[in-house]
Amino acid sequence: MRWQRGGRSEDLIDQRGAPAGGRGGGGIPVGKLGIGGIVIVGLLSVILGKNLFVGGGGPGGPVDDAAEEEQVEFVSSILDDNQALWGSELGRQTGKPYRKAKLVLFRDGVDSACGFAESAVGPFYCPPDEKVFLDLSFFRALGKKLGAPGDFAQAYVIAHEIGHHVQNVLGTDEEMRSLQSGKSKADQNKLSVRLELQADCYAGVWAHSTKKRDLLEKGDVEEAIGAAIAVGDDQLQKMGGGHVNPEKWTHGSSAMRKRWFSRGLETGDVKSCDTFGAADL
Ligand SMILES: [Zn+2]
Repeated sequence: MRWQRGGRSEDLIDQRGAPAGGRGGGGIPVGKLGIGGIVIVGLLSVILGKNLFVGGGGPGGPVDDAAEEEQVEFVSSILDDNQALWGSELGRQTGKPYRKAKLVLFRDGVDSACGFAESAVGPFYCPPDEKVFLDLSFFRALGKKLGAPGDFAQAYVIAHEIGHHVQNVLGTDEEMRSLQSGKSKADQNKLSVRLELQADCYAGVWAHSTKKRDLLEKGDVEEAIGAAIAVGDDQLQKMGGGHVNPEKWTHGSSAMRKRWFSRGLETGDVKSCDTFGAADL
């Protein structure tokens, strides 16, 4: 993607130097996505475990400061571009004004209003905080371990999380939680898949705007689609050595994630992302 280094976003909060979360021993490691009744929405269904982050310069690994600073500026640029797009498009398309989210960079673990989370949960969004949480080592893991390298693969991840923020602004997240209550685990998971695929579609809506503005380079679209495929539930279940079990999916298969990202990319239209009204995913 064509982007220019321009320093740090005013919406970026850098907590990489802070001690890992659970300060004072009061933290609860997140065993699932969501604790204490407050649910975080992440990129991944499956906790990939620390082994995903080892050997790629992840926690404990070597960090090249200059390279990482460029990465911070890239994240800043993608964050600002996403928020500028939603700042103009959300109101125009839905009549609801956008309000900006913050993005927190952390290492190893972080405290949020949703509880303490380790890097192994992957990038996530905590609705009560209105913040996206990202450990940059995830990008190294995405490229090296999940096989989805490239700057636009990373951009898709950020855009997906901002997509969750858009759902929060629109109230979709809350509606889905009330639909989930009293339902079986399997039915709750099906609703979660629809929420996640919608965030993929919203990421596509943002990508559509980058295409229109001629910011994409050869291979960018393929990188984003590669990342959407890499984080599909069937793919991650296979990688984890287990068998593919659709009842446990909370984010959707690789094919579904590719389809909904592509839909947003083609249309640029928020209404085309109605995963809750769709008969087929
Ligand atoms: Zn998600």
